[in-house]
Amino acid sequence: MIRGWFRIALWKRVLAALVLGIAAGVLLGEQAQSIKWIGDLFIRAIKMLVVPLIFFSLVSGITAVGDVGRLGKVGGRALGLFMLTAFIAVSLGMGLAALVQPGAGLTITLPTGSAVPPPPDQSLVAMIIGLVPENPIMAMAQGAILPVIIFAVLFGVAILASGEEGAPLARAMNAGSTVMQNMTIYVMELTPFGVFALIAWVAGTFGFDALIPLSKLVALNYVGCAIILGIVYPLILRLIARLPIIDFYRGVVDAQAVAFSTASSNAALPVTLRCVERNLGVSNSIASFTVALGATINMNGTAMYLGVIALFGAQAYGIELNWFSYVLIALTSTLGAIGAAGVPGSGLVMMSLVLSSIGVPLETIAFVAGINHLLDMARTMTNVTGDATVAVAVGRMAGEIDVEEYISADDV
Ligand code: ASP
Repeated sequence: MIRGWFRIALWKRVLAALVLGIAAGVLLGEQAQSIKWIGDLFIRAIKMLVVPLIFFSLVSGITAVGDVGRLGKVGGRALGLFMLTAFIAVSLGMGLAALVQPGAGLTITLPTGSAVPPPPDQSLVAMIIGLVPENPIMAMAQGAILPVIIFAVLFGVAILASGEEGAPLARAMNAGSTVMQNMTIYVMELTPFGVFALIAWVAGTFGFDALIPLSKLVALNYVGCAIILGIVYPLILRLIARLPIIDFYRGVVDAQAVAFSTASSNAALPVTLRCVERNLGVSNSIASFTVALGATINMNGTAMYLGVIALFGAQAYGIELNWFSYVLIALTSTLGAIGAAGVPGSGLVMMSLVLSSIGVPLETIAFVAGINHLLDMARTMTNVTGDATVAVAVGRMAGEIDVEEYISADDV
């Protein structure tokens, strides 16, 4: 029986857990709360991996590239694709919201007891300064991913620059990366159980009544994500990576399920990394660099949604927008998506940046906060799939993708 369980490909078990979890949540209702701890356990186990996994695989990936010039080229391509997809996503969000007018005719009345979230306490300058860790150990302890990435990149480059003397450390880092990847395999075996519990909890305890007045907004969020997943990413895969789409989606489904059920790009990161390397055949150096960076700064679902929310708020409050407002929305939504941390609800915090730039009252945020989690799940799945798409495209451009492995999408 146990053998039979392991013989079923993990992605099939995860998908089944997703479907069964929804059914269990509907049946159990509020009682589904009692199994949420299984999901929490799963999230903790996965978070346990994030910092050491990023550190070891990034450093070993950089030392494997072997040359700083090549590293710059890979990094530049990844950043270019992150920007391109973010721009397409915001434009899509604004276009959809202009067409469907989700805020037209709504009067914003706040649910009792709701507080308007404060604007993010970080100015752009503070954000830039915060990228450099004062103390790398503290950044690791706090799980501050971007500063850890900066430290790991410099550390890897310095090992390269140290030549023969640095070589033993490079080997040690490589060993660390292999060990962390094996640990990821153990934790991934918990995925079906974690996903089941988390989805059952959402389906059982979510106040679906809150959806009705905001149904257009909910629909737009899901349609926008579906367009990005079904058209934008496939175009990148076909035109830039020149690889088949079905194999991509089969290879990335575990990461998508974890992203959907946890609403956190960071929590999904170990799984995304494993999918990109093992199922999609991208080399360790490209995968670790693009996926680790992407989980923090590449959030297309979030960028799209911020564009939608800006227009939604403006429509609900009857605020006229001109072409300059649209430029501002595009800029602030892209920045917001970059600045949002890969944790549940961070997109909501970034709304204040976008709304205040065009003079829409921040009450809009409290108005949509009640349905945020349900929308966050789809956004996060879109964000994570975007990281994998860019990793595949960059891997292909650099000739560092094992096409046979990609096509066989080995179900590990
Ligand atoms: N939760 C999302 C993520 O982790 C960000 C968001 O709230 O939009 O990718």
